[in-house]
Amino acid sequence: MKKPRIVAVDDEPDFVATLKEYFELRGYEINVASKAVDGIALINEKKPDIAILDLKMPGISGDEVMTLVKSKHPDTKVIFVTAFDDGGKTRKRLLDAGAHAYLDKPLPSLKDLEEIVKKACS
Ligand SMILES: [Mg+2]
Repeated sequence: MKKPRIVAVDDEPDFVATLKEYFELRGYEINVASKAVDGIALINEKKPDIAILDLKMPGISGDEVMTLVKSKHPDTKVIFVTAFDDGGKTRKRLLDAGAHAYLDKPLPSLKDLEEIVKKACS
């Protein structure tokens, strides 16, 4: 099976660098951005199977990025990875709006994220 293509967008450069290294080492095509505008451009260009999004980013929120992804690339699955916690309200709202998953940061392990990525596209 072909490995899912990924775009990851998070305003923490270290976090996206870690994701890039982890997934590239395992044979995935992954492109990353630490600015939402760059992430949107990447998603439009790459049309990835998976978009891994932060929620809180300066300028454009992950929320808005998902709205855009869903309208232009309905097949791209959105996985949020965020430290934002308001007791599950936002989690529920985004999952209801079509997010594939909503994971809490820090992630216990990238292996868990990889499993979700794999299952999302199988
Ligand atoms: Mg952030």
